[in-house]
Amino acid sequence: MSNVPVAVVTGSNKGIGFAIVRALCKQFPGDVYLTARDTGRGQEAVAKLQEEGLHPLFHQLDIDDLQSIRVLRDFLKEKYGGLNVLINNAGIAFKVRDTTPFAIQAEVTLKTNFFGTRNVCTELLPLVKPYGRVVNVSSMASSSALGGCSQELQQKFRSDIITEDELVELMTKFVEDTKKSVHEKEGWPNTAYGVSKIGVTVLSRIQARMLNEKRKGDHILLNACCPGWVRTDMAGPKATKSPDEGAETPVYLALLPSDADGPHGQFLSNKTVRTW
Ligand code: NAP
Repeated sequence: MSNVPVAVVTGSNKGIGFAIVRALCKQFPGDVYLTARDTGRGQEAVAKLQEEGLHPLFHQLDIDDLQSIRVLRDFLKEKYGGLNVLINNAGIAFKVRDTTPFAIQAEVTLKTNFFGTRNVCTELLPLVKPYGRVVNVSSMASSSALGGCSQELQQKFRSDIITEDELVELMTKFVEDTKKSVHEKEGWPNTAYGVSKIGVTVLSRIQARMLNEKRKGDHILLNACCPGWVRTDMAGPKATKSPDEGAETPVYLALLPSDADGPHGQFLSNKTVRTW
């Protein structure tokens, strides 16, 4: 088994994830795994970074596929005895002009951004080693969507005692409510992406609390962040940040020094803790 530290970035064949891998290859003292759901796209991305003189490793990972997540989990367990850095970056967003019915957009978006990310966490968090760092890439869209929720929902999403099961129930209810066209009446905002990212931010707060309760002595720091508005296929060419700039906050959180006792359980943008 290798004692080399290991970092894994989900959805890193392009966009912000790719830039995160590039930065980690330069700054993280260990093996850095670029992962992609499509092996061809993943290996092409690895080759691009190799041309820059960098040496990422590759592993397939489709966060929508529990089997794929478990194969990666078993690989990390066997080869490294766990992992040191996990960046949950993979995500999707329908374009504003997309005419797919809202209920389908809600189901598909929540499936990857919330349920897929949660499944990765369920399988990989127990493997995270002491002093490990976990970064869940959320979005400022989570804060604005929170503001668009009913007072009752806002209270639940800001709660310091909400459980993961309760959060899953709420995310499932959102999808069900869109199918019945009652989501607005039920206090939800009209954004599937925003609600999926509320899920990611609140999940991070819950996971950090669980780490405090169950693994306090392990000094693991887990946070959610927004990368900013970044020029990628998702956000388009008018966005203000380059992918390398978008990678800065996630990489800062991934490389928090071993003597840092925070941030933990926070939502950050531009390396700054934001009020949730
Ligand atoms: P992007 O260029 O569209 O890249 C998304 C990445 O996620 C791609 O590598 C994609 O793989 C991967 N992915 C999607 N579904 C996946 C799955 N089921 N399993 C594994 N990988 C999957 O988007 P981006 O702008 O870099 O976004 C990265 C993250 O930042 C997302 O979580 C996004 O919500 C968040 N974010 C972005 C912005 C922004 O302005 N760009 C702002 C706030 C937050 P394929 O190539 O196979 O599709």
